[in-house]
Amino acid sequence: PKRDLIIDRYLKHQRTLTNEAFRLMDETPSNPAVQDDERLFEENLHLNQKRYEAVLSELELCGAKRILDLGCGEGRFTNTLVEHAQFTNILGLDVSHHELRRANKRFERLSPTQRQRIELIQGSLLYRDMRLDGYEAAVLIEVIEHLDPPRLSTFERVVFEYAHPNTVIITTPNAEYNVRWPSLPAGNFRHFDHRFEWTRNQFQTWAQTVVEKFGYTVTFKPIGPNDPEV
Ligand code: SAH
Repeated sequence: PKRDLIIDRYLKHQRTLTNEAFRLMDETPSNPAVQDDERLFEENLHLNQKRYEAVLSELELCGAKRILDLGCGEGRFTNTLVEHAQFTNILGLDVSHHELRRANKRFERLSPTQRQRIELIQGSLLYRDMRLDGYEAAVLIEVIEHLDPPRLSTFERVVFEYAHPNTVIITTPNAEYNVRWPSLPAGNFRHFDHRFEWTRNQFQTWAQTVVEKFGYTVTFKPIGPNDPEV
């Protein structure tokens, strides 16, 4: 009875592949939930794209040229930044050597002049690092929820007190929205390495405290489809 679901998951929800599989069986999926799951999964993919677009437009607005991509992972956002000439120096930092290797591989496809604008370093957001000095803006896309809550105060000092860029852009999942993911069991996080997922109120309370402590101001913006309840 779970055949369609199994096929869909096995093929990682890729519509072109599942369609092909069903075509080979000369059938269409019998279970509408599968199509629904797929739609939501795609919505999730677009969410990442929307996140990048939202951060990019904030960076363009603030006019920063020298950018820190903190917790850059495999360099997908760094790679987006380098396409925009406004950003003359981009420093990507991540704690994971594995992710940095993947980022380096990705950047092999860039032109030499583009590659020159990127520097990649291994480091942790939980230690003061002078290599982060002198940048105008920092972005942390889906990173803070990977830090253990008792270490957040250290992270705050590293970014807001020591590196101290004019602008800091942070994205983090909205835990309230998780109920809209039928495939996500209640109470689960979106990713196995998440240490927390905050409600909008928790995030705003934290951010408000941080800006007061370090002399910044803050604005909050949503990303993705606006759900009136969550
Ligand atoms: N910003 C990227 C990746 C987000 S995943 C993107 O949007 O695609 C979170 C990343 O944070 C991972 O690559 C992980 O290695 C990194 N990370 C987790 N703890 C960290 C720490 N203490 N210091 C620096 N990076 C960290």
